[in-house]
Amino acid sequence: MSSITLLGTGTCQIEYERRASSVLLELDQTHILFDCGHGIAQRLLEVGVLHHQLSHIILSHFHPDHVSDLIPILQAGAWSQRDPRSSDLHIYGPEGVQQLIDGLMRIFGPRSFQQPGYQVRVHEITDEHFSIEDYHFESLSLPPAGNHGLRFQWGEKTYAITGDSHFHEQEINLLRGSDLAIIDAGHISDAEIVELAVATQTPHIICSHLYRNLDGPQLQREARQRGYHGTLQVGYDLLSFNL
Ligand SMILES: [Zn+2]
Repeated sequence: MSSITLLGTGTCQIEYERRASSVLLELDQTHILFDCGHGIAQRLLEVGVLHHQLSHIILSHFHPDHVSDLIPILQAGAWSQRDPRSSDLHIYGPEGVQQLIDGLMRIFGPRSFQQPGYQVRVHEITDEHFSIEDYHFESLSLPPAGNHGLRFQWGEKTYAITGDSHFHEQEINLLRGSDLAIIDAGHISDAEIVELAVATQTPHIICSHLYRNLDGPQLQREARQRGYHGTLQVGYDLLSFNL
């Protein structure tokens, strides 16, 4: 079974109901985490994924609310007495990801994060296309935070996750042709969310990375009035879809 789960729909804000931005992909038996800000190590446990079962983490960019739970995940791999890691952990990200991991290793000491039985392997994504095992992904630049959105196909459908973005041509291009998109709705206005839906006609758009409460039904009404035919939904932590 394959699924997509919003582990965190929040931001740097510390809130009861939203952890920082993160999406878990389960493709066949492979777990791939897209971003891991604060609270996500715990959210993984809540959806039944133990830290050592996670082999792949993709980072959209290097703001703390998208990367900070790398620290507990790496440390648990090396030092947790329950379920210590025995297989490699692959970390993918745009240019600078090697520097980020090297920096963490320097600050905390490599012994905090690694054991001889496995490797932490860093993959700097320099192309718009990359693969994890047999799965193919697109990594697309979405200004202005140095962020890269993720797009992939599964079965007949195309999925897009923006990470951290704004309303611009690149964002429209990422969503166009996607069947389901999880968007950064926190950095854009209500009018821009509606505009994005109308311009892309993405059949299902889920608003995430939320700094404020959104009125989902109102957004949906406005988008419909403007000629949007799809579903505009406000995301929440642990919202999950089978693929
Ligand atoms: Zn962010």
